[in-house]
Amino acid sequence: MSFVDHFARIERDKLLLALYSCTAADVERALVQPEGNLQSLLALLSPAAEPYIEEMAQRSAALTRQRFGANIGLYLPLYLSNLCANECDYCGFSMSNKLKRKVLNEQELAAEIAIIKSRGFDSILLVSGEHETKVGMDYFQRVLPLVKQQFSYLAMEVQPLEESHYRKLVEQGLDAVMVYQETYQAETYAKHHTRGKKQDFAYRLATPDRVARAGVDKIGLGVLLGLDDWRLDALMMGYHLDYLERHYWRTRFSISLPRLRPCTGGIAPKVHLTDLGLVQMICTFRLFNQQLDISLSTREAPSLRDNLLPLGITQMSAGSSTQPGGYQVPDSQLDQFEISDDRTVEQVITQMRLKGFNPVFKDWESAWIVPKMRV
Ligand code: SF4
Repeated sequence: MSFVDHFARIERDKLLLALYSCTAADVERALVQPEGNLQSLLALLSPAAEPYIEEMAQRSAALTRQRFGANIGLYLPLYLSNLCANECDYCGFSMSNKLKRKVLNEQELAAEIAIIKSRGFDSILLVSGEHETKVGMDYFQRVLPLVKQQFSYLAMEVQPLEESHYRKLVEQGLDAVMVYQETYQAETYAKHHTRGKKQDFAYRLATPDRVARAGVDKIGLGVLLGLDDWRLDALMMGYHLDYLERHYWRTRFSISLPRLRPCTGGIAPKVHLTDLGLVQMICTFRLFNQQLDISLSTREAPSLRDNLLPLGITQMSAGSSTQPGGYQVPDSQLDQFEISDDRTVEQVITQMRLKGFNPVFKDWESAWIVPKMRV
């Protein structure tokens, strides 16, 4: 049993109709619900909620402060490789793109780690393209101990793995897995993923179940905003989150709301999500789920990131590079996508403090976890 079975019973067309036929009364009913539920999620994501965004923003900000205080967790992505055996038409790492390819060796990894540590980070997100033979379990098992020695919190955003593989990585210190479905609309998914294992929509959809069963502390869900109707994709991600929380109560969850960015060989968004639409999504998810981490990357512009901070965001990257080896030797030919916020870490945290927020570099210590899970 996985979300795939549950997903098969979701009637997409009915949901779409319900989303676009919501009324102001539905939104007002959703706003007075003490707890979020799927019905209120639908109403708040609908076009009918647009006149209520100010009210939603105020409630979202208050709920976020109540649960998370003024703390914003900071992390950095560390790109292990840009090798990829898939073809995704929105991504610079796509197999057929003429790009310099690279996999970090141990020395290069150590150099990247040293730079990231010198900037104060204690939470790391390991990222790679999806290439099982050259950047698969053997490689991950070699590099994880090196990384875990240096960081308290270790997340990965790599190809979907088997449950047994996740278990092995948990033993080496894996704390979180980000696995973005990109879009929950199977036909759109097929159109954008034209080669490689990522074409298997159902295998990807069942990945968070495997991750949770393997005992990973946190799972990150996400959709790539711009591939299709963002309201419907966000709603289906809400269904996914709801299912996972009900089945895996020990696991924590986060979401990311990345908008499609320019990249080598990349496509233009089919659907444009405005800044206001992004605000609506952030606030809706906060009203839906008060425990949820909501993450915002450097894909967004500095002023927007600063303005979104109070509304529900709990985690941010700052000073990111989206290329393997990019902290030591920046080389734009290796990039996955262009980033919008290229401020330094110091600039970002200065701005955070000016707005009354507390940048947190470390909020996790695995010392209490059973010994077999420690490196
Ligand atoms: S999105 Fe991921 S799987 Fe697709 S080409 Fe880029 S790195 Fe590879």
